Amino acid sequence: MISIERMNELWEVVKKGATLDAQEKVIELREEMVELRTINLELREAVQSLQQRLGLRELAFDGVVYWSELPGTEKPRDPASGPFCPSCVDSDSKRMRLQDHWNKGYTIEGWFCPACDRVFS
Ligand SMILES: [Zn+2]
Repeated sequence: MISIERMNELWEVVKKGATLDAQEKVIELREEMVELRTINLELREAVQSLQQRLGLRELAFDGVVYWSELPGTEKPRDPASGPFCPSCVDSDSKRMRLQDHWNKGYTIEGWFCPACDRVFS
């Protein structure tokens, strides 16, 4: 793994002007970087797989409210996809599902959040 100690070790070799040693250290660091990139990619894929298994989807803001969507897809408008309260998501990272304000008999069309009592239209 690349560490501060490894970088300091490289720096000490370079300062001494030992070019061959420095080249070997640079090659070693490059190999470690390639390994780290591979590990990083594998971890990203594992996170994405777990998010899909758990039903967690990325949120997209449409200018008024958040909708969940699978990575790389257009905004689905099924009931499981939201909408979610932008205030609760932004302030507390809570995915509070909004209720249709219009269908509840209110005169203002929009979405109502039962957690923070806000209306979004
Ligand atoms: Zn809210």
